[in-house]
Amino acid sequence: MQAKRTMPKKRRKEERMNMKHIADLHIHSKYAGACSEQLTLKNLDAVAKEKGISTLGTGDFTHPEWMRSIKEELEERSSGVYSFKGSGSGTRFILSTEVSLVFNKESGTGSKQLFSKDSGIKKMHNCVLAPSIDAAEGINDVLSKHGDMKADGRPLLSMTSEEFVEAVRCVDKNAFIFPAHAWTPWFGVFGSMSGFDSIAEAYGSQAKHIRAIETGLSSDPSMNWRISGLDDYALISGSDAHSLPKVGREAMVLEMGKDGFSFDQMIDAIIGSTAMTIEFYPEEGKYHFDGHRRCGISLSPKDALKYNNICPKCRRKLTIGVLHRIEELADREDGYVPKGAVPFVHAVPLREVIAYVSGKGVGTEYVNNSYTNLIKRFGSEFNVLLESSAEELTAADKGVGEAIADIRANDINIIPGYDGVFGIIDITRKVAARKGGFGQKRIGDFG
Ligand SMILES: [Zn+2]
Ligand SMILES: [Zn+2]
Repeated sequence: MQAKRTMPKKRRKEERMNMKHIADLHIHSKYAGACSEQLTLKNLDAVAKEKGISTLGTGDFTHPEWMRSIKEELEERSSGVYSFKGSGSGTRFILSTEVSLVFNKESGTGSKQLFSKDSGIKKMHNCVLAPSIDAAEGINDVLSKHGDMKADGRPLLSMTSEEFVEAVRCVDKNAFIFPAHAWTPWFGVFGSMSGFDSIAEAYGSQAKHIRAIETGLSSDPSMNWRISGLDDYALISGSDAHSLPKVGREAMVLEMGKDGFSFDQMIDAIIGSTAMTIEFYPEEGKYHFDGHRRCGISLSPKDALKYNNICPKCRRKLTIGVLHRIEELADREDGYVPKGAVPFVHAVPLREVIAYVSGKGVGTEYVNNSYTNLIKRFGSEFNVLLESSAEELTAADKGVGEAIADIRANDINIIPGYDGVFGIIDITRKVAARKGGFGQKRIGDFG
């Protein structure tokens, strides 16, 4: 796509022996709260193929039942990389999980108290990638002392992020930990309710082991580039899918071996040579702007400040969104591109594109049939969204082809999400809202 930046010369030779793997390492199983019953390993394997994803996190390895499925259904294919037993091919699975830590920020210890707005009690989500089933089971043993692992695929654990990293690394130093959706108000390390302004503050003595952050749906890399303190961190993108269609709505494109790779090689690729990330439009994320869902109030950070961050309707404190927190921590102008920054593209899931263009619901038979036809013709969803030529696509489906051309050119209108409400994309009616700018850059601007 047009966003690709020129690759440094020294990497080019290596790349000939590599291929691009699309990886989504943050998903959930049917055992996590508010997640679809359809999230089984078999279905995940199938949906990954349909989307064009080569490598998927298992999600929820901390849950005993899910771990049992992982052990029953998968086998190791290369060190730390798994696939369906007897298949020798198909989707590669990496052991992954997300945990919700609850702790007292003032005392710096884990807390059994429930979250309350006015206390020092905080919650923070962290993701872990484990290098083997043995490591994952060892991690589960240690973490089970801090919470009920059976209660949720994303368990609630009484410990600080510092204690958590230390505990996981005591089991296996190669386990890879990163803060999940770093900017979301209640559960993100930099979220408006967490109050941390840096990785050092949040992880204390263990901060040196954090090498990456997940940007989450409501922010994209260009927003994160405005904070110089994040230059040393890889920016991870994952879907955090709670149902099959959401798998891959954000993902990473990793340059790795043509004939396969190990867990350690994958971590090296994440840290050092991510080729590109695939991003949700951040305005579409449900915490991009500030606001109050119940009051129907949505405000840009600038407008929220005019009201002193107080809701003009109910006079309570607004839920401060991701863009506002970025503005608070940014020490660079909007549009700044750091040296060596990994390029990215925005994408809209294909079912949503078809639904927008046709005016039919995303779960309807019409959308499903059109989707299946396009997948048959182009091989996978990412082939349609990222690789197909505008001519081919328009020949297959004129409306969808034109909409995808507009998405690739960032020429669409979005009403930003706020306080838990997803943003609304309008592909068919190109008015000036996005072009007017919510502090975003167009893909062409990175050329
Ligand atoms: Zn989370
Ligand atoms: Zn209100």
